[in-house]
Amino acid sequence: MDIPTTMKAAVLFNYGDLRVTHKPVPAPSVGEALVKVDSIAICGSDPAIVAKGWQNHPPLGEFIPGHEFTGTVVAIAADVTELNVGDRVAVEPHKGCGRCVNCLRGLYTTCLNYGKPEKGHRHYGFCSNGGYAEYTVCHVNTLHKLPDNISFEEGALLTTAGTVLYGYERIGGVRPGETVVVTGPGAIGLISAQVAKILGAGRVILTGTREDRLAVGRQLGADVTLNINEVNVREEVMKLADGIGADLVVECTGQPGPAAEALEIVRKNGRICYNGIYHEPVTLQLNKIVQWNLLIAGPKAEGMWNLERAIPLMADGRLKMKPLITHTFCLDDINEAFDTFTGRVGGAIKVIVKP
Ligand SMILES: [Zn+2]
Ligand SMILES: [Zn+2]
Repeated sequence: MDIPTTMKAAVLFNYGDLRVTHKPVPAPSVGEALVKVDSIAICGSDPAIVAKGWQNHPPLGEFIPGHEFTGTVVAIAADVTELNVGDRVAVEPHKGCGRCVNCLRGLYTTCLNYGKPEKGHRHYGFCSNGGYAEYTVCHVNTLHKLPDNISFEEGALLTTAGTVLYGYERIGGVRPGETVVVTGPGAIGLISAQVAKILGAGRVILTGTREDRLAVGRQLGADVTLNINEVNVREEVMKLADGIGADLVVECTGQPGPAAEALEIVRKNGRICYNGIYHEPVTLQLNKIVQWNLLIAGPKAEGMWNLERAIPLMADGRLKMKPLITHTFCLDDINEAFDTFTGRVGGAIKVIVKP
C-alpha cells in the first residue's frame, strides 16, 4: 500500500488548544501495526483530556488524543503474524505492560506500569498518541478484526460496548428474569440497557432527564423509562419491583445524586455497578452496603478482552449502534465536533470524526 510520509493529525498544543496540523506518519515497532484510521468516536473523557491533559500524556505540541476508533491495517512489523495488511480492525485503547502482576492476571486496564512506555505500557489517546489522525501505530494486542457487516462507524463504539460488558462481568452478570435499573441515558447507559436485555434481564428500567434519549432507550430495548424530573424514581422502581427493589443497578450518570440513590433502589442482596465518571466525591451509606449484603463494582474501561466479546453481538444485529451515532464530522472540523458533543447540539449522543 502507498503510505505517505506525512499525515493530518489533531494535536494538543496547549490545554484547550486542539489543532489540526501535519505530522510524520509513524512507523510500526516490534509487535505493532500501522492503522489507517477511518472512524473515531468522541468519548465523554475526551473533552476533559483536551482541557486538562492526562497523567503522563505525550508532550504538548506532540500529543494526539482520541481512543475509540477503527481503521485498516496498512503495514505490520516483521514479527506480526496475527494480522495482515488490509484487515479491518477496531482498536482497544489499553495495552498493558504484560509483565506486572495485574497484566499477568489479564487485568491490563489496571496495569501497575500505567503511563510508563519504557515498560511497554500504552493507553492510546491518554498517555500514548491516539486516533485523531490519518494514521497511528497500535500494538497487535489491541487490535480486533472487524467482520464486514460491522461498519467502521459502528465499530468505533466497540470500546464503549466493551466497557459495558466488562461492567457486567465485574458485577456478576445478569441472571435471567432480573430487574435491572440503568441510570443515565448517555452512550454507556443506552448500551447498558441493551446489553441487560441481551443477557436475559426480565425488565430493564432506564432513568434520565432527556425525553429524546429515553425514547432511544425504549427503541433499544428498555421496558420502562422514567423521567427523573417528572416522577419519584425511588417510588416508581419500588412499585415496579414488588416493593423490594432492583436486583441490579447500573449507575451511568457520574452524578453524586443518582450515585447515592442507587442504594435506595437496590434490593437486599442486590448489586450496583458504578460505570460513570465521577468528578466529585460522593457520599454513600456504607453501612447499608454491609447490612444489606450488597455487591458493588466498577469496571476500569474495556478490560479482560470484553471488546472482542461485543463483536459477535454487534455483527448479528443484537447490539444496535446506529441509533447512538447522531453526527459525523471530518477531522478538519474536530473542534466543531467537540462543541456539538459537549453542547449536545441537535440531540448529539455519539459524534464520529472521520480523518
Ligand atoms: Zn472512551
Ligand atoms: Zn502491567
